[in-house]
Amino acid sequence: MKGIFPIDQFQKLRTPFYYYDTKVLRDTLACIRMETAKYENYFVHYAVKANANPKVLSIIRESGLGADCVSGGEIKAAVKAGFPADKIVFAGVGKADWEIDLALDYGIFCFNVESIPELEVINRLASAKGKVADVAFRINPDVGAHTHANITTGLAENKFGISMEDMDRVIDIAATLEHVRFVGLHFHIGSQIMDMGDFVALCNRVNELQDKLEARRIRIPYINVGGGLGIDYAHPNRQPIPDFGHYFETYDNSLKLRSYQSLHFELGRSVVGQCGSLISRVLYVKQGTRKRFAILDAGMTDLIRPALYQAYHKIENLTSEEETDTYDIVGPICESSDVFGKAIDLNRVSRGDLIAIRSAGAYGEIMASGYNCRELPVGYISDELV
Ligand SMILES: *Cc1c(COP(=O)(O)O)cnc(C)c1O
Repeated sequence: MKGIFPIDQFQKLRTPFYYYDTKVLRDTLACIRMETAKYENYFVHYAVKANANPKVLSIIRESGLGADCVSGGEIKAAVKAGFPADKIVFAGVGKADWEIDLALDYGIFCFNVESIPELEVINRLASAKGKVADVAFRINPDVGAHTHANITTGLAENKFGISMEDMDRVIDIAATLEHVRFVGLHFHIGSQIMDMGDFVALCNRVNELQDKLEARRIRIPYINVGGGLGIDYAHPNRQPIPDFGHYFETYDNSLKLRSYQSLHFELGRSVVGQCGSLISRVLYVKQGTRKRFAILDAGMTDLIRPALYQAYHKIENLTSEEETDTYDIVGPICESSDVFGKAIDLNRVSRGDLIAIRSAGAYGEIMASGYNCRELPVGYISDELV
């Protein structure tokens, strides 16, 4: 073991691979359970898109969370992992007919509807099955989150959701459709949000919209505020579990939930981010004219976040205790953006050293691709490496 990693076990495995520390995952889930238990009407749906590894999913399902899915494939994965259909919500701007049919057949909890044409298609497909689909409208609250531009979703110019101005009209249309039932409002302002003020801004907006509904004597049982809670990428050891207490308390303080309403959350990154690491081997150490490169056998095909969002991940040499040197840490893919970190201090690196790229549990393995005809990385959980 070096710190939290079973190095001896790692030596036997082909790299690169994902490693999920189930203690961190289970402690995170226990914290969510404890913090939500303080409020009798709070429910968390795990956002499957962050990580759909079947072993990870089944641990999350055991903890009692519901699932938030954005495709038919995710609904299948969630059902297969044992999530009850009545705890599955289905979001996404582009739901295909077969995906809507699948969700209707399973009898999921709720569709998060993002446009009028989608509402009409759900109505028609539900009618064909003699069913009534529960729908929440995803409202674009025009609230900016202080995070990377590619992962804010709640601004007016974004493709997501229905604008606030259109809300009344969509509600009126739903009232004319016999096979949909309007049960809630849904929001999601972005991801990797560390400033609780962003969630307060969302709450204020939800309060305004709720007042509008109340003025029309419309009662909805269900408010869904999405996910977005961030994790501490700089300190995966010091802060392995996000501050869920503060997060839920922020909603409790700022959102005027009606007594007959439940509040739903869709957390992805904050559930699985810190339990995962991408484990890789150093192939070569190459001295450039001004820089030294550590070339790994993992690349952007295994973990695309640094290339896609200039995301920071802490990188550690698990093999060496030598003095540190400074490296650009890069992958083998034929793209200049295939870089995990520039000017990173690592214990001196040699060919064959094991490198951990930390906080890679969310939007890591699930976003892996076969570009360059590479094999997809395997994901192991710590339970199976003892
Ligand atoms: C991605 C997504 C989430 C999860 O976001 P995190 O930042 O991972 O918590 C929740 N809801 C919707 C609609 C999403 O698209």
